[in-house]
Order: sequence, then C-alpha cells, then structure tokens
Amino acid sequence: MQKGTLFIVSAPSGAGKSSLIKALLERFNADNRLKLSVSHTTRPMRPGEVDHVDYHFVSVDEFEKLIARNAFYEYAHVFGDKYYGTSRELVEQWMDQGHDVLLDIDWQGAQQIRKQTPSARSIFILPPSLTELRSRLVNRAQDSEEVINVRMQKAIAEISHYNEYDYVLVNDNFDETLLKLRSIIIECHCELNNQKDSLSDLIENLIKEGNQDLSKGAVNPRHLGLI
Ligand code: 5GP
Repeated sequence: MQKGTLFIVSAPSGAGKSSLIKALLERFNADNRLKLSVSHTTRPMRPGEVDHVDYHFVSVDEFEKLIARNAFYEYAHVFGDKYYGTSRELVEQWMDQGHDVLLDIDWQGAQQIRKQTPSARSIFILPPSLTELRSRLVNRAQDSEEVINVRMQKAIAEISHYNEYDYVLVNDNFDETLLKLRSIIIECHCELNNQKDSLSDLIENLIKEGNQDLSKGAVNPRHLGLI
C-alpha cells in the first residue's frame, strides 16, 4: 500500500486558514482520502468549540505525560505557556493506510515535522495585509482586545517564517486560494513517486496487452521504435 502524504498548513491567526481547511474537506474530499489531524492543546476552549473535534483539550499535566510517553509527532508552546501538539499514533496509522494527512500547525511544529518526514509538503497562507488580518480577528469576536494584540504580535513572528515553506498562498480571494490549495494536493497525487505502488498493476497490464497486440500484428513494432 502506498503511504499517504503529510501536508502542513501554517498561517498567522486570521489569515483564513481554518475556513480554507474546512472548505477543502467539505467540498473536495468525497473519497475521504484526506484526513485532518486534531491536535491536543492546553489552551482554554473558545465559545463554539467542541472537545475532540476542534482540539483535544487537556490539562498541562496530561499534556506533559503525553510528552513523556513520546506520544507527539511534534509539539510546541504557541501562545506563551500554552502547549499544542500533534498526536503521533493516529497520523502514522492514517498514512500507513494510504490517507493524506493535513496538519494545521505553527512554524515550530512545521520545522519538527520536516526533520522527521522530509517528504511532507508545507504550505504557508499569508493575509493580504496586516489591517485585513486585524479586522478578521476583531470580526471573529472570539478574543479580547488584549488577546488580539498578542495574536497580532505572534502573527508578525509567524509571517517571518514564510520562506521555510514549499508553497506560499496569499489569501486575498477565498475561492482562488482554495483552488490553489486543492491544486497543490492534486499535483502531489500526480507525482510518480506517490503512485509507484498503484501504477505497477496498470503498467504490467499495459505491457502484457501491448505484447499480445504486437504478436497479433495489431501494432506495427516499427511505429513504436522497437525495431
Ligand atoms: P488557535 O489557538 O487559534 O486554535 O491556534 C493557534 C495556533 O496554534 C495556530 O497557528 C495553529 O496552527 C497552531 N497549532 C494548532 N495545533 C497545533 C499543533 O498541534 N502543533 C503546533 N505546533 N501548532 C499548532
């Protein structure tokens, strides 16, 4: 079975990453090939969030026990003292089953994943401007002014890592950015390396059929450059 690919998606808060990922999964994943990893975090749940859907919300103590058990593929302190981490077991299981796995993680996590899994593809989403970023954070109405200011500082720090990524998308038009995101995944599926196992039967049959046609004289070997 061909292993799936890891896709890392990073962006500063408010760049539209969550909405893009949601739309990608809802509109373009009928075959369920792509799975979204649900991270663990020690940050408090926001209004509207659901435990085990948006995140696995855990205490610092639980998180540190998971670190000690080497349960994380990567983890980081993202906002001050808040831990965020990707659980290793499910991601590896999905990839072994041939699923692609999307990781919505920050630049620190992306660096750790690249080291362990160099075949991972990383995508950075930029907002069209900082003014737009701030207004998206304010309109989201999830955080206080103080938290928004901290998020803006973090956003600038996050943006400074854009050049570590394989792809950079400027999210100035949602549908276009979604199409680009989808295209990156399709491009990856078309790569020879990611199709070797699934192509082997097809190629074997094509050669067999070709040989039969050649022996029946249906194909002129001269046209194929064989003689
Ligand atoms: P939020 O608190 O707004 O949900 O997420 C804050 C940041 O944490 C986002 O940039 C998000 O990508 C990042 N993040 C979410 N889960 C993980 C994770 O498992 N690992 C790392 N390194 N970052 C994460």
